[in-house]
Amino acid sequence: MAQVKIENVTKNFGRFEAVKDFSLEIEDGEFIVLVGPSGCGKTTLLRMVAGLETVTSGEIHIDNTEVTHMPAKKRDIAMVFQNYALYPHMNVYDNLAFALKLRKMPKAEIKEVVKKTADLLGIGDFVNRLPNQLSGGQKQRVALGRAIVRQPKVFLFDEPLSNLDAKLRVSMRAEILDIHQRLNNTSIYVTHDQLEAMTMGTRIIIMKDGVVQQNGTPKEIYKHPANKFVAGFMGSPAMNVMPCTIKEEAGNLMAVNKGMNLTIPADQADRLKPYVNQDLYMGLRPEHITDSVVGDQKKNGSAFKAFVRLVEPLGSEQLIHLEAEGDRFIARIDPRSLINYGETLEFYARMESATFFDGKTEERIV
Ligand code: ATP
Repeated sequence: MAQVKIENVTKNFGRFEAVKDFSLEIEDGEFIVLVGPSGCGKTTLLRMVAGLETVTSGEIHIDNTEVTHMPAKKRDIAMVFQNYALYPHMNVYDNLAFALKLRKMPKAEIKEVVKKTADLLGIGDFVNRLPNQLSGGQKQRVALGRAIVRQPKVFLFDEPLSNLDAKLRVSMRAEILDIHQRLNNTSIYVTHDQLEAMTMGTRIIIMKDGVVQQNGTPKEIYKHPANKFVAGFMGSPAMNVMPCTIKEEAGNLMAVNKGMNLTIPADQADRLKPYVNQDLYMGLRPEHITDSVVGDQKKNGSAFKAFVRLVEPLGSEQLIHLEAEGDRFIARIDPRSLINYGETLEFYARMESATFFDGKTEERIV
C-alpha cells in the first residue's frame, strides 16, 4: 500500500484545460472519492495517475517515487472500470489468474490466491463460467477480484457501479467498503453520484470545470460547503439556496427576501455584519425547514408562509416542495405531519443552521 502525491497537475487537450493545477496528498490506506458533474475532469485525473494519459504539467508521486512519466505497467496500480473490461474468452478463474500467470507465480499459489479472492467476493461458485454467463454485479465482482489478486499499491475505480441497477449499487457499495476495510488499500474512486461519494469516501474531493472546489470529510462538506456550487451538488435533496439581502432591524440582523424575513442568530450575525444591505445567498438544508417550532427556536424570528407544490411521502420522511414568493425549495418533514398539496402553511427555518454565501464570489461566509 502507498501514499499518493499529486502536485499542481494540469492537463490540456489542445487549448482546452481539462484539469487545472490539481494538488492532492493521499495517505496510505485512505479511500478518496473524486466527485463532480460530467466533464469536470475526474476521469482524466484518474487516468493520469494510472499512466493512461500524459500529464501536461505538474508531478505525480507514488510512495515517494516520481511516476509522472512512468509507463502504466510499471506503476503497480490496478484499475476497475465501469465496463468491467474482462477477457470475454476466459472463464472467471482465468480472468482472476491472468496477471499472476504473467508474473510467473507457481500454479499452486495462483490456485490459492484465486480461491481466496473468489471466496472473499462471493463468486467461488462461478469460477468456471465465462463473463457472458454472469450478471452485471457478478462481472463487477470479477473485475474487482482481478484488481485484488495483484495486490497493487493503489486501487483506482472509475465509476465502477454505474452499469448496475439501483439496488445492486447499494449492496456493491457496501461490499467495496467492506473489502477496503479488510485490505486497507489506498484507493481513488471516481463517481458523478454525490450519494456514492458521501457514503464511501473517508475524504471527498469535489471538482468543477477541472478545478477542485472542496477537499474534506463527508461531514465537513455537508455541514460547511465551501461555496454555492458544493452546497447545491452534495446532499439529496441538495441544500436550498436562495437570494437574500441582509438588513438591520431594531438591533437584529435579518435575512430578507420577498417571501421571508428571518432573524439571524447572534453568533452568525457577528460575521454577517459587514454584509448589511448586501445581496447574498442563504442556504437551508431540507431538514432545517420544519412545520413546527422545535427546541428554543423563537417562532417570531423564523416563521414564513409557503405554498405546498408537491408532497413526496418516502415512508420515514416526507419531502415537501414549497414556494414562497417565487423561491422554490424542499423541506424534509416528519411523516406524521398532515400536509397537503395546495395548502399555504407556516413553516420555520432553523436559522442557527443556515449557511450564507457571498453574492458575487459565491464562497461561503457563514
Ligand atoms: P464523465 O463523468 O462524463 O466521464 P469526467 O469528469 O470524468 O466526466 P473527463 O472524462 O475527465 O470528465 O473529461 C474532462 C473534459 O476533458 C471533458 O470536457 C472532455 O470532453 C474533455 N476530454 C476528455 N478526453 C479528451 C480528449 N482525449 N480530447 C479532448 N478532450 C477530452
